[in-house]
Amino acid sequence: MADQLFDTLLAETKKIFAEKFGTEPEILVAAPGRVNLIGEHTDYNGGYVFPMAIERYTIIAASRTNADKATIWTNNCGRKAVSRAAGEFAVRGEIEPDDAVDWTSYVQGTIACALEKGAKIEGAFNAVINSNVPLGGGLSSSASLEVAVATLMEELSGHKFGKEEKPLLCQKAEHVFAHMACGIMDQFISALGQKDCAMLLDCRSQVPEMVPMSDPSVSVLITNSNVKHQLSGSEYPERRKDCEKVAKLLGHELLRDVTMDELLASKDKILAVDDGERLFKRARHAVGEDGRTLKMKEALISGDWATVGAQMYASHESLRDDYEVSCKEIDALVEIARKIGPEGGVIGSRITGGGFGGCTVSLVKTDKADEIAATIAREYKSQIGKDATIFVTRPAQGARVL
Ligand code: ADP
Ligand code: MG
Repeated sequence: MADQLFDTLLAETKKIFAEKFGTEPEILVAAPGRVNLIGEHTDYNGGYVFPMAIERYTIIAASRTNADKATIWTNNCGRKAVSRAAGEFAVRGEIEPDDAVDWTSYVQGTIACALEKGAKIEGAFNAVINSNVPLGGGLSSSASLEVAVATLMEELSGHKFGKEEKPLLCQKAEHVFAHMACGIMDQFISALGQKDCAMLLDCRSQVPEMVPMSDPSVSVLITNSNVKHQLSGSEYPERRKDCEKVAKLLGHELLRDVTMDELLASKDKILAVDDGERLFKRARHAVGEDGRTLKMKEALISGDWATVGAQMYASHESLRDDYEVSCKEIDALVEIARKIGPEGGVIGSRITGGGFGGCTVSLVKTDKADEIAATIAREYKSQIGKDATIFVTRPAQGARVL
């Protein structure tokens, strides 16, 4: 199923390349989207995240040219299934970001940052971008696009980036050219993911550790609630500020350095400041989530599925009650999964991503996955009146040249 999806995407990419440029591509690269298994709202606290690459990819087909600029088509620049667009891209000299952001910002930004890191190319290139990572669906189509472009630049230039250098230059492209203050998780897992492994990433040291998740009888079920609640825009910065405030109050730079014992011992001190109750809850999530992430990693390695599931549900409850980033649709999805339970093949389930809608991630028994997906879809429709979009994946390979 996964291979078939990939083959279809690849064949379509080659076909579009032939249509647009009249030749076969010289170079083909792919980079996956991702899902975070646990470790939510921990990155800016210097904590741990635990993502894996998914079997959804951005593929780029390309050939060298003698032109001054690169001509790049994308098959999916918008929300519609197919919405093709082309652009011309600078491949040398000083490249400045625009104020306005669209799909070209991610591509031009990554080319610029790759050039800055030494991936100089002669001439230019023609390319077609094609992706089956849903755009704006919380599975990081943006990082998969950046990492695919960076991988293409490596091939075109013959210059290999360092292991951590590549995702970091992609992150810089998103910061500087797409004006999006993202963390490092998405680019690290898309660039460095390995088949049958999740990645424990320490967001402070920026050191990734691959964690085997090789049991084929367990799969990952991703359910998109297809809701995204309108936010004022201040929800994330507010939470970030709250976390920083507590860290400072306890004499640390980051909540990563605060233990749960220390936090609990300082409860009165926190409650004494303005909005102390809220601050305490926010910090309890961030500190607790680091502990749950490390615990889940160990349980995953030893195949202790009951402990894995307990960490996922506890993470969800903490994000719902202490961090207050869930919503009724997402809570419904998690409760439906929990009700199916271990007898029905569900190991655990939780909200994934920034919150206020988006996706849930569940670990399920592979042989029950289709049945579980059908139950979730049916129950969600009857409770919420909406269609969920569901797919099943195993941990996938990161960026590669095809
Ligand atoms: P997410 O990363 O969760 O999918 P983002 O809002 O961070 O959502 O990134 C989505 C944006 O990335 C799109 O609106 C588009 O500008 C760009 N993008 C991602 N994939 C592609 C693609 N295949 N072609 C063109 N632009 C893309
Ligand atoms: Mg993104």
